[in-house]
Amino acid sequence: IFEYAPAPESRDVVDIKPSYGLFVNGEFVDGSGAPFKTINPATEETLAEVATASADDVDRAVQAARKAFGVWSALPGAERAKYLFRIARIIQERARELAVLESLDNGKPIRESRDVDLPLVAAHFFYYAGWADKLAYAGFGDRPLGVAGQVIPWNFPLLMLAWKIAPALACGNTVVLKPAETTPLTALLFADICRQADLPPGVVNIVTGAGETGAAVVAHPDVNKVAFTGSTEVGRIIARTVAGTDKKLTLELGGKAANIVFEDAAIDQAVEGIVNGIFFNQGHVCCAGSRLLVQESVHDELLESLKRRLGTLRLGDPLDKNTDIGAINSAEQLAKIRSLSELGESEGARRWSPACELPERGFWFPPTLFTGVAQSHSIARDEIFGPVLSVLTFRTPAEAVEKANNTPYGLSAGIWTEKGSRILWMADRLRAGVVWANTFNKFDPTSPFGGYKESGYGREGGLLGLEAYLDV
Ligand code: NAD
Repeated sequence: IFEYAPAPESRDVVDIKPSYGLFVNGEFVDGSGAPFKTINPATEETLAEVATASADDVDRAVQAARKAFGVWSALPGAERAKYLFRIARIIQERARELAVLESLDNGKPIRESRDVDLPLVAAHFFYYAGWADKLAYAGFGDRPLGVAGQVIPWNFPLLMLAWKIAPALACGNTVVLKPAETTPLTALLFADICRQADLPPGVVNIVTGAGETGAAVVAHPDVNKVAFTGSTEVGRIIARTVAGTDKKLTLELGGKAANIVFEDAAIDQAVEGIVNGIFFNQGHVCCAGSRLLVQESVHDELLESLKRRLGTLRLGDPLDKNTDIGAINSAEQLAKIRSLSELGESEGARRWSPACELPERGFWFPPTLFTGVAQSHSIARDEIFGPVLSVLTFRTPAEAVEKANNTPYGLSAGIWTEKGSRILWMADRLRAGVVWANTFNKFDPTSPFGGYKESGYGREGGLLGLEAYLDV
């Protein structure tokens, strides 16, 4: 699937307007708040000005969604499916435009947005379109909840949108979605796709803005279901807002996953899995394998191969098809990665990066390893959400389990071993919502995803993803 081409992808494939409004009741309308700029993090150039939705604007969006709910939920499932299939096909037709816009607004390499994000976005719409007329067979009945208020982060702007909107619509709910303030553009392009698909007005509404806009969506009394993906910190605030109301809530929060390599693992394969685990999407991944647990006997050999491999990663222009590592999404995120890395050094871990020239403008951080990391170090505990890997060691499988589980998070884990029985033994004991074996960061719409512990609750994707949008 990797197609190496010398020329960068052209940004001319996407028509970026100077300013964008909110998408309410099938129309683009002005927002009452002060507009904000969204920038290209690779160049710091302003891409567009985007409207801020005030609480009143959010109210109008919720009212539109409420009105549309009557129409949408009354459609036979097969009719809703037709709209979702149509949206899925338009996403495929406009995939190049969407991928380029995603890379421009987010900073992720075009190879990832084109070969990972966009195919998965379309796959989620196809998958949930298929369920829309089979909800009774799924054993859930077919009673939608009403208006879903959805708030998403900036790391996978379109994919998080797809995870939220596709199942909600398939089940007969209507939606008010707030994208992250640093990556609003693809959600607005998606709004255009909803119009192109003739989706009835009000079924999907997109309100842009910062945390206050998200808070207004979550707190709105006529929202029946809240779905949030983002930080554990904001997840806690949202859980408090929703407590004592009759809203249903799902939370997809942070992580600090262990990628565990046993001495019998195929080391070259494990190295690829480690690189994919932490450097995919600049490490802006909730389920990133940010803690490498390596069995002591293969530590030196593995580290040597890993360093050699890191030396081959290409950092730079996200639109260049050869780029492996793109830009950090924002100045704020870059500052956070820098300060946590400095803390790692001051706590005594050893820092290493390959020789790597960083572009002058934009937000960049080189792929970074920390060795000699103790479990008490902040870089072994806090989510960095950047291209930074902390390396720890273990001797026995039991010690690997103990260390892997020694975190307040529980989103994902990876195991590398040739022994099938060990995979099962480990998977039984790892407290993580997703456990990958001899692979990492693999996603599929048929498979539910979600966390244990402070990584949140509820599942998105698969059959269980329907349950979150139905009265069962
Ligand atoms: P964030 O929590 O700061 O923001 C997420 C979204 O919430 C944004 O749209 C933001 O505007 C909004 N928001 C902020 N304050 C709010 C409030 N008080 N009420 C309502 N909405 C509010 O997170 P982020 O920095 O955008 O994303 C990074 C985090 O997301 C990481 O911790 C990462 O692990 C997590 N994440 C989790 C998953 C998952 O599936 N578990 C997936 C992707 C990202």
